[in-house]
Amino acid sequence: METLGTWKRSFFCGEVSEDLIGSVITLMGWVQRRRDHGGLIFVDLRDRAGLVQLVFNPKEQSDAHQGAHLIRSEHVIAVKGVVERRPAGTENPSLKTGSLEVRVRQLKILNEAAPLPFTIEDTTDAGEDIRLRYRYLDLRRPILQRNLVLRHNVCMGVRNYLSEKGFLEIETPALTKSTPEGARDFLVPSRLNPGSFYALPQSPQLFKQILMVAGFDRYFQIVKCFRDEDLRADRQPEFTQIDMEMSFVDREDVMECAEGLLARMFKGAMGIELKTPFKRLTYDEAVGRFGLDKPDIRFGLELKDVSAIAAGSSFKVFSDALQKGAVVKALNAKGCEKFTRKELDELVEIAGRFGGKGLAWVKITDTGWQSPVAKFFSEEVKKRMDGEMCAERGDLILFSADKKETVNTVLGRVRVFLGKKLDIIPKEVFSFVWVTDFPLFEYDENEKRYVSVHHPFTSPMDEDMEKIDSAPQSVRAKAYDIVLNGEEIGGGSIRIHDQKVQSKVFELLGIGKEDAAEKFGFLLDALSFGTPPHGGIAFGLDRIIAIMAGSESIRDVMAFPKTQKASCMMSQAPSEVDKKQLDELGLRVVKKE
Ligand code: ASP
Repeated sequence: METLGTWKRSFFCGEVSEDLIGSVITLMGWVQRRRDHGGLIFVDLRDRAGLVQLVFNPKEQSDAHQGAHLIRSEHVIAVKGVVERRPAGTENPSLKTGSLEVRVRQLKILNEAAPLPFTIEDTTDAGEDIRLRYRYLDLRRPILQRNLVLRHNVCMGVRNYLSEKGFLEIETPALTKSTPEGARDFLVPSRLNPGSFYALPQSPQLFKQILMVAGFDRYFQIVKCFRDEDLRADRQPEFTQIDMEMSFVDREDVMECAEGLLARMFKGAMGIELKTPFKRLTYDEAVGRFGLDKPDIRFGLELKDVSAIAAGSSFKVFSDALQKGAVVKALNAKGCEKFTRKELDELVEIAGRFGGKGLAWVKITDTGWQSPVAKFFSEEVKKRMDGEMCAERGDLILFSADKKETVNTVLGRVRVFLGKKLDIIPKEVFSFVWVTDFPLFEYDENEKRYVSVHHPFTSPMDEDMEKIDSAPQSVRAKAYDIVLNGEEIGGGSIRIHDQKVQSKVFELLGIGKEDAAEKFGFLLDALSFGTPPHGGIAFGLDRIIAIMAGSESIRDVMAFPKTQKASCMMSQAPSEVDKKQLDELGLRVVKKE
């Protein structure tokens, strides 16, 4: 192994360009692969910027050529050589440097690499466990390098845009008190205060509001947040938010600023011009038409309430449901009359997974309705239903009858499944939609109390304030979520800036006076000392980058993500700690049976 000595790198491998032809340059990087062609040895040298071909010719520089025999994949080398045009017919058009090569005069092997557990290429068949264990190798793959470059560029765009708009980047503490965002806290024991714990922030919500009380007017932060949830689907225990807050604003101001920010992010990092203002749906419209509060509006298959028509059938499931005040909704799966029994069972299975008791289906065939429930419908009711659902021969109508929430979720999920299965979702389209006018509270059947749909600091709508005691469930919030291609990528609200209203909301949430004082006393105090009207929003950075990069998972746009079991395969965190450390903290580990 050799040292750098006086050698200095003059270019990145991926930067070697035609205007360097004839110059002597110094490159450093990793060996992608080596090919022996009789006398000539070719090496693809890789760094962050790309690949370039090196040529070792025994007739030109025998020392370097001798050394080239020793190099293996992922050895770290430095070379000095002359840039030349590749002989005609040997160019590689898929490579940026594909018309060039560097004829090596001197070689230094700076470090060797042990045989690799997998090859460093965009497409790899290595399992994710092994990739996460050797994350430093995984991260050498160009695709992950590109993702992290994209992430950096997006963050630079965010910082520039928000600074131009007068926002200040201010850090808030990571060792703090619990902020309720609906998840479990990560706790950190305090050695200096035995028996006391910090919570890692689920978001900087309280601190950013306090910064508004403090008069900073506009705040932002690209910030780590921590939520101790069971890692369903594509979640991470620590993730990054672009968090912002503004004073003296209403919803329109925050939404406009957020649109400008997203537009800059997409323009700066991807050259894509977003059309603003984005579409808007109220919460009721979103769940009514698409079943979910994060609607993917890139395709149709919308839901319709057919309760009135269904009431004319003698199908007991429908009439029982309607009698109980539930609803019957339907969606027309266009062209799906050909679905097999197995495919229909799959839809019923999805309905069950999301709380539905079943899914009735009707195939529209040449001879009319074909369905186990057809006999319960008169010809006239069938006709009205066909008309309402715009059903034609070849269609499949799917029905769900249950509580409104259940029906929406079931059909909403079935809709998303069908959109993917039928391949009717346009790709390469970035479709943004705001969802507004959320309910302030929802009733939690398990806890038998109201909980916040967003968080307890969200302001009720002024015109709904009078119903806050008599009909809390019908009070709407000054909240807004931003949805991109069916994924929630951000959300925020105008906050409560009146201490009395905040106390009232705590009371409705079942947070007693003492409890509120203990948990959020500092906020309640602050609200009493001249708080401006304020509001903000937070975006999920990881999710946005994943969508931009076309990645399946947010793990592909984070440098060091954790597994579904919240562990880091590389560092083996979390891990047991010394007894001494536990003693200092006054902690004892009780093993669960
Ligand atoms: N703190 C909120 C969240 O993390 C965002 C906001 O209301 O600004 O979802």
